[in-house]
Amino acid sequence: MTELESDETILASIGVDEDRGEGAVMPPLYLSSSYSLEGFQKKRGYDYGRTANPTRDVLARALAALERGAGAVVTSSGMAAVDLVLCLLDAGALIVAPHDCYGGTWRLFEARARKKQIEVVYVDQSDAEALNAALARKPALVWIETPSNPLMRVVDVEAIARAAKAVGARVAADNTFLSPLLLKPIALGADFVVHSTTKYLNGHSDVVGGAVVAKDAADVEQLKWWANCCGLTGAPFDSWLTLRGLRTLSVRLERQQKTAAKVAAALLANSAFRAVHYPGLESHSGHAIAKRQQKGFGAMLSIDLAGEARIVPVFLDKLQRFTLAQSLGGVESLVSHPATMTHASMTPEARARAGITDTLLRLSIGLEHEDDLIADLEQATR
Ligand code: PLP
Repeated sequence: MTELESDETILASIGVDEDRGEGAVMPPLYLSSSYSLEGFQKKRGYDYGRTANPTRDVLARALAALERGAGAVVTSSGMAAVDLVLCLLDAGALIVAPHDCYGGTWRLFEARARKKQIEVVYVDQSDAEALNAALARKPALVWIETPSNPLMRVVDVEAIARAAKAVGARVAADNTFLSPLLLKPIALGADFVVHSTTKYLNGHSDVVGGAVVAKDAADVEQLKWWANCCGLTGAPFDSWLTLRGLRTLSVRLERQQKTAAKVAAALLANSAFRAVHYPGLESHSGHAIAKRQQKGFGAMLSIDLAGEARIVPVFLDKLQRFTLAQSLGGVESLVSHPATMTHASMTPEARARAGITDTLLRLSIGLEHEDDLIADLEQATR
């Protein structure tokens, strides 16, 4: 594959017509856990499924190509991918993380910090003074998540990566919300890109998976070593399904983000919503940065209902097109209540600091018609 190939071509063609055994056009699914040796001490390319698997490798190649990295490791979940990056750190290493990062990431960082395996400091990374104060403590790793979950705050990846490099820190970016089609963190200075492939990359809400892409080959080798050592690698069938979903990522995202922009504009004009957080809106605080560093604004938004917390269940009960469920990035539209769902593992104080109110709802826009989604959200306010 040449550098010049576009994402759409990578998606459509990776792994196609590579099967020399039977000439299968699409990469076959290899479920076998073991691979025979050709003879005594004569290993073939594969030996044991935890270490490497041909189906998983096609997916890893696709993700590395899309993120413009040296290689990737496909993991059993997004959280396994987050933990795999932590495996590369020395004991007690300091991480600078966003104060509004994904609740599961926050829980993992906190749990590892309680065991003194790492140290974490949370900052609002859009606040240069707070970020610089944290960087002055010489962290080993700066964790970036943009746009943030669930408030859709956007941070300048290039500026943070530059500041992190200046103090010798490595940079990892969780690119789950945008996917490599809309944001290329490695091109902006990140060393690692983390994904919950459960979301847009698979896109059909039928697999839990993850991946870490590294910019440098030496890091890829380290990640592979630890993934094998700890048994974090993803299952072949999950990889096969994810690869199948990945093929249509560009068409899904294009349509989903177009609909998200229409939904955001419609809700902004409705006084039943106190706030609409969507980086595509000119009024959004991160609009200018998002426009500069992203190829599109994505299909996630959050809305704050005007009124008391008790109207939340009433609103949710009336919704018919949005399913009340965790997760995001699938063909079906979902609504979630961060305070009691995705971010329930954060303390109320940590949620308040991050600006996550009890009336905040997060929407993942699917492939339904925009008119149906807007009508559904509007009728639920009456
Ligand atoms: N990162 C982000 C931004 C997420 O939203 C999630 C899950 O919602 C994860 C990581 C964890 O991924 P998984 O649920 O696949 O373990």
